[in-house]
Amino acid sequence: MSRFFSEKHASLEPYVPGEQPKERKYVKLNTNESPFSPAPLAVAYARSVIGTLELYSDPELRDLCDVASKYFRVEKDEIIFTNGSDEILDFAFSAFCDEKHPAVFPDITYGFYPVFAEKYGVPYETFPLEKDLSIDVEKYIGVGKTVFLANPNAPTGIALPLEDIERIIRSNPDNVVIIDEAYVDFGAQSAVKLIKKYDNLLVTQTFSKSRSLAGARLGMGFACKELIRDLNTLRYSTNPYNVNRVTENAGIGALLDDAYMKENCKKIIENREYTVSELKKLGFEATDSKANFIFVKHPKIGGKELYLKLKERGVLVRHFEKERLKDHNRITVGSLEQMKRFIKETSEILEEVK
Ligand code: PMP
Repeated sequence: MSRFFSEKHASLEPYVPGEQPKERKYVKLNTNESPFSPAPLAVAYARSVIGTLELYSDPELRDLCDVASKYFRVEKDEIIFTNGSDEILDFAFSAFCDEKHPAVFPDITYGFYPVFAEKYGVPYETFPLEKDLSIDVEKYIGVGKTVFLANPNAPTGIALPLEDIERIIRSNPDNVVIIDEAYVDFGAQSAVKLIKKYDNLLVTQTFSKSRSLAGARLGMGFACKELIRDLNTLRYSTNPYNVNRVTENAGIGALLDDAYMKENCKKIIENREYTVSELKKLGFEATDSKANFIFVKHPKIGGKELYLKLKERGVLVRHFEKERLKDHNRITVGSLEQMKRFIKETSEILEEVK
């Protein structure tokens, strides 16, 4: 830390993203990226504006908004776009949390939530997950705090049914409930349609996973127009050009090529189910993941040991040091070929440690 760093940030522990190694070509199953390239139409749209990057992007992102409002069946003033969904989550902590509106989220969830809370000096509470790593919905009913829930949750992949999400929203009318749907397209139910019914709901989604655009950084939020206006106040006070022109166009192409996205999600779901069933044969326990990753543990080998041994063999998965997570590994679901390689290496490692 330099002697100039503001004291208010002195104790901030930044989020640690998954490794992006350059030294070796890994089978990369550690950051929940898609194994598939972006849709051909997304690439074509992005390319079409490369030669005009002397211009700023449209701060209102009107072309993307037009396409998205039809696609998601919401009004244009019920959507906001951000630089990845991390940015809208950052805005949400800043906009909807303070001393009077502390935040609440599970003890095991997306690791960025506590970082945002610390960054904005927002008081927050965490509710422990149940023994089976599920969320006890009752804890959030009428909690009277700003609720952040990833659905499906990360890194467990477990999803809540829409009725439970709706009960949480309905029972906290004076607090915003943020449902982070980064992984919703792989088998969970979306709450987007509920924004018409509740003025305290913000749903966030991303183009990083099911639409293969992690590197483009495009996230979005859906809410009633008043909440979107608040978020835009912060967006225009931070960077009105937060979504660049190449990314805006990639996003348009991705939404127009819906069949490509649906087909890829289908493949990921099939590969997920295949991987889980193969791992169970090897003695692994797995949560019921509805995401593009699985969360598994084995009675004979610790999470860290398996992670390190797989890394030596050229397969990268995600291991978390946190006490309740350290026996597990989170494995991104990739192509069938990648998953077969991962299973082969894992079964050889298990033979070694027997
Ligand atoms: N929410 C959850 C639960 C995530 O796992 C991630 C990805 N790390 C994000 C949001 C943010 O993704 P992005 O910024 O790429 O949209």
